[in-house]
Amino acid sequence: MKQQQIDTYKRVYARDGYRCCKCGETDQSKLQIAHRIRQGTKTQKNAAIKYIQSFIRDEIGERWSMERVWNDVIYHQFNLVCSCAKCNSSFNIFNNRIATEILLNSILDDINSA
Ligand SMILES: [Zn+2]
Repeated sequence: MKQQQIDTYKRVYARDGYRCCKCGETDQSKLQIAHRIRQGTKTQKNAAIKYIQSFIRDEIGERWSMERVWNDVIYHQFNLVCSCAKCNSSFNIFNNRIATEILLNSILDDINSA
């Protein structure tokens, strides 16, 4: 994991108060970071990245590399949430296109205003 991603994880843990955003678990040995647009298997990951690439092309007319999508979107703090292992998969929104589009728009807004 890159230093930038480690720093983002630390910010997300702090933002979410070191507790699972679903069940409130505070045992740090059980906490992890969930991805709202999830990583999943390699096939799921590639499908998510392809979807995000075409979304960005449609929204702002830019072609982003898989690496840029990975670093700037998948590891954006808006896509991350503090979770326990038990609740992790419940944070996945990639099966909900409306929620996914809202999230992607907010991430693009945040990147553009940075
Ligand atoms: Zn939980």
